[in-house]
Amino acid sequence: MAKPRIAIFDFACCEGCQLQIVNLEEEILDLVGAADVVEWREAMSEQSDTYDVAIIEGSITRPEDEDRVKAIRAKAKVLVALGACATIGGVNKLKNHFDLDEVKSYVYGKDAGRPHLGTAMTKSVGEVVRVDLCIHGCPIDRQEFTTIVRCLLLGKTPEIPPYPVCVECKARGNPCLWDYGQICLGPIIRAGCGARCPSSGFRCFGCRGYADNPNVEAAQDVTNRFGQTIEGLKLKMQLFGSQQEPTLS
Ligand code: SF4
Ligand code: SF4
Ligand code: SF4
Repeated sequence: MAKPRIAIFDFACCEGCQLQIVNLEEEILDLVGAADVVEWREAMSEQSDTYDVAIIEGSITRPEDEDRVKAIRAKAKVLVALGACATIGGVNKLKNHFDLDEVKSYVYGKDAGRPHLGTAMTKSVGEVVRVDLCIHGCPIDRQEFTTIVRCLLLGKTPEIPPYPVCVECKARGNPCLWDYGQICLGPIIRAGCGARCPSSGFRCFGCRGYADNPNVEAAQDVTNRFGQTIEGLKLKMQLFGSQQEPTLS
């Protein structure tokens, strides 16, 4: 039986999630043995127009990117969004909160007029084309990536936690950072990282996007109890582009 053909593409991003794949070391050899990697700019020079699985890293920031990702979607049987930039827009979505010409001048100075910089709003991959699977996080977790790709190759549906980070945090016996004055997004953000940040004393910044059906009322209760506001919570959620849904009012 022919091996599935996998192509990995990048859009606007820091390429840190691809680096996580490269860092899989010997495990990557197993994956490569089970599939044909036919295009991957970061690791090989070959290119291909034929693939079964397209893995997309990065967010969509220009009209020409939209055309490119649509063309990839048209060729792929399965399309996977890799990392926060692709799944929720990630840190690239920060610019959507500002005047884009102002942002360009601030970042690029005298080069702000270069045409390739564009003036489009940042979008996640799923805001442009249908996404079959999301691998969450900034950066992705190597182990989770391996498990999800193995499931894909075996034709199984991977289990991605629908519940919030607090569940994993409580299971690890961590003290709650709200008690220490930190605005932690754990109650509404998707688990799967093993509560990585709160376990190291840092609040959850929301890099995995919203949990399924996040308990907005509980989030509102907690903000009230600790003298915080929903506006403050929304502000914290802007960092990873998680501010769109659900509506916090
Ligand atoms: S999700 Fe984070 S680590 Fe991955 S490409 Fe985007 S910014 Fe880089
Ligand atoms: S520290 Fe954050 S993730 Fe942990 S229980 Fe408190 S709110 Fe939830
Ligand atoms: S705790 Fe939050 S910010 Fe940290 S890795 Fe997990 S989801 Fe991302």
